[in-house]
Amino acid sequence: MSGEKLWGGKPFHGLGYDFDPQWLLTPEQKDLQAKLIELCHTTLRPNAIVSDRERIFPRKNMEALASLGLLALHVPKKYGGLAQNHVCVTMVLETIGRYGCSSTALVYSMHLLATAALLYRAEGNAEIEKVLRRLNKDVFIGTSSYSDPETGSHFWYPMASRAEKIDGGWKVNKRSSWTTSGGYADFYVAQTSSPDFKGNFADLSVFLLYKDEIRATTSSWDAMGMQGNQSGPITIDNVEIPHDRMIGPPGDGAKSNDEAVDPLGLLMFSGTYNGISLGAIDIAKMQTTRKVHADVGMRVCDYPTIQDYVGECVMDTQASRLYAFSIARLMDDVTENGDWSLHERDPNAMPRAQYLPWLWQTKFIACKNVYNVVDKMLQACGGTGYKKDLGLERLVRDGKAGWVMGPTNEVLRQFIGKYALLGMESLDYWNQQVNERVLNNELKKLDAAGKRRLMESLAADLQQQAAQ
Ligand SMILES: Cc1cc2nc3c(=O)[nH]c(=O)nc-3n(C[C@H](O)[C@H](O)[C@H](O)COP(=O)(O)OP(=O)(O)OC[C@H]3O[C@@H](n4cnc5c(N)ncnc54)[C@H](O)[C@@H]3O)c2cc1C
Repeated sequence: MSGEKLWGGKPFHGLGYDFDPQWLLTPEQKDLQAKLIELCHTTLRPNAIVSDRERIFPRKNMEALASLGLLALHVPKKYGGLAQNHVCVTMVLETIGRYGCSSTALVYSMHLLATAALLYRAEGNAEIEKVLRRLNKDVFIGTSSYSDPETGSHFWYPMASRAEKIDGGWKVNKRSSWTTSGGYADFYVAQTSSPDFKGNFADLSVFLLYKDEIRATTSSWDAMGMQGNQSGPITIDNVEIPHDRMIGPPGDGAKSNDEAVDPLGLLMFSGTYNGISLGAIDIAKMQTTRKVHADVGMRVCDYPTIQDYVGECVMDTQASRLYAFSIARLMDDVTENGDWSLHERDPNAMPRAQYLPWLWQTKFIACKNVYNVVDKMLQACGGTGYKKDLGLERLVRDGKAGWVMGPTNEVLRQFIGKYALLGMESLDYWNQQVNERVLNNELKKLDAAGKRRLMESLAADLQQQAAQ
């Protein structure tokens, strides 16, 4: 247990360290956490209010994070990073979401996620190594451009994007429907179908692009919340890039997703949304302990109803964050404490990927929990909570983004249900497996003429394929 939690030199108004799983952190990580809480007080939180009101990209907050070395949080020391592990990444995102700024947490997550894709295949690529060395020094912000306008929240299915091999490199075409920091970020990790694509959407490749190679309309984000994240469509139009801007070998996309991008992303989303839940509870504690009803001489926190709300939300949130930290610890155990060099030693190593279903559950639980917590804390704070001044209504709006961000919670619960009932193969990410049960059932409905029409159409298809 650490000492008293401070906020601007005074005792913190919300839950103290006795509610935080401090036993998971090393002394160095606790020190980083305390410095980050202070930075949230002086910089991230004040900027969050302006970012939310004026829809401003939180560049200043990213500069502040760089001042603590955090833009290279999980980057090896040889590239100037802090070489921190998955537990620390989860803690940092929770801290930013709780005490700082949700939009910054999202922008920062997309940055670390893009960095993870680079780290996975950094070995021997001087261009990637150059980017990694610039992160803190130049506040060099990255983002991850995956979601495709044709396939919505199925962001791993880039139907509208392609690449081809040209002399000396690649020609990349990408349409992305959403990219956090689009137009503001300095580098972009983008996924397309592979240069030798033959119709199998599992054959994906990953590219590194720079700001002057993408087109984006900045400041177009106008949404319910996450006002600073400035997610928007980006276009990469026949951009020719050198050979070393492909991250990893051709066809590495699915591996990169399963081993680097998804595991880190899902942990960071969990940390962020658990942080938002905790931030809402902190505000509710502050408000309900100070508001008095003179007629009965009671504070709002003295009512058992309010105690029940808070008690239940605290316990649900603890379950969610301990789940996330437990999976983060598991990731540390299987990666020699977040050591990326294991992918240099064995490019086929996929230690994180085997636990993907556990990571999906982490994101689902945190993003489901935050819905309930922000609502209940709003109720506990009454009309005062509904007003902007308290800072809770921003968390209500920001908290809602987690559920709809890919992989969405609808998709995740279906994945887990299918996996539990029918096995992993049944997930069929890229729409490749025929569901013969459904097919046979539909065929049963056809009369002789219908079957003949179908046979003729299939025969024509086969002929066309044979002619190609
Ligand atoms: C704030 C914010 C920031 C973002 N930043 C990025 C970013 O940086 N990079 C990036 O690549 N993407 C980003 N995204 C995109 C995000 O990951 C999703 O792709 C996007 O939110 C999906 O929205 P959509 O309107 O296309 O949903 P749709 O795909 O149209 O989904 C509509 C509904 O259908 C449901 N649904 C979808 N498939 C199934 C299914 N199989 N079964 C049941 N229901 C299903 C969905 O869950 C949802 O409820 C961001 C999104 C938000 C909100």
